[in-house]
Amino acid sequence: MNESQALLRLQEIDLELMRLNGQLKAMPQQKKLAAIDAAKKNLAGKMKSIVGQRKDAEIDLEDNEAAHEKTVARVNEVQSEAHDRAQDFRGVRDLEAHLTALAKQLEKLEFHHRELEGNLERLLKAEQNANDLGKRLDEERAAQQEAYERASADIMARVRVLAADRKAALVDISEEVAGRYDKAARRFGGLAVERLRGNMPTTCRVKLQQGLFDELMRGPVITECPYCHRMLVTEGALANE
Ligand SMILES: [Zn+2]
Repeated sequence: MNESQALLRLQEIDLELMRLNGQLKAMPQQKKLAAIDAAKKNLAGKMKSIVGQRKDAEIDLEDNEAAHEKTVARVNEVQSEAHDRAQDFRGVRDLEAHLTALAKQLEKLEFHHRELEGNLERLLKAEQNANDLGKRLDEERAAQQEAYERASADIMARVRVLAADRKAALVDISEEVAGRYDKAARRFGGLAVERLRGNMPTTCRVKLQQGLFDELMRGPVITECPYCHRMLVTEGALANE
């Protein structure tokens, strides 16, 4: 291939690759995969919050149990003190009042303990549910990915052929022209190159004045369209295709 032919081939390959990429992106599995990924992200945020709350709840419960244990020990102490002072009537009365206060404190701690246990149980359940949902999402994602790969196998095979063709075309294109092509492709959304047919460029389709046409035909075969500034291949402009 000469350079202008290779350039036109490159353009053809890239337009087909763009079209195939569009098809891949539009496949229903892609939409589902994106939705699953969004759900997983959302779940990860929730999970972090649940685990944080669950750890706090465990600490609260441990604190409550430690306080309970301490209070029970105090009760035992006061009881044995009361036993020792059995003869000291007033002292015993004070100790009994103390015991009553401790018993109230224990009751309060036990009530709170039930609340804390309920809370922890609720959080553990929420954590389990979130874990289950995460597993279901992972399974669903794997299934969608597999379906996507099956459905896109033909397109992917074609993409691989085109990638090889692209490499081959680039062999015949100078670095300078390839650089101009990349720039024009970015600027014009892929439609980087047009040809001249007669005195009309094939993409912008603005007829060239005779003087401009003559000037272009005297210049290099790969030039720039004076109107739209795409790359313009003048070779073959006068052929009867
Ligand atoms: Zn043009």
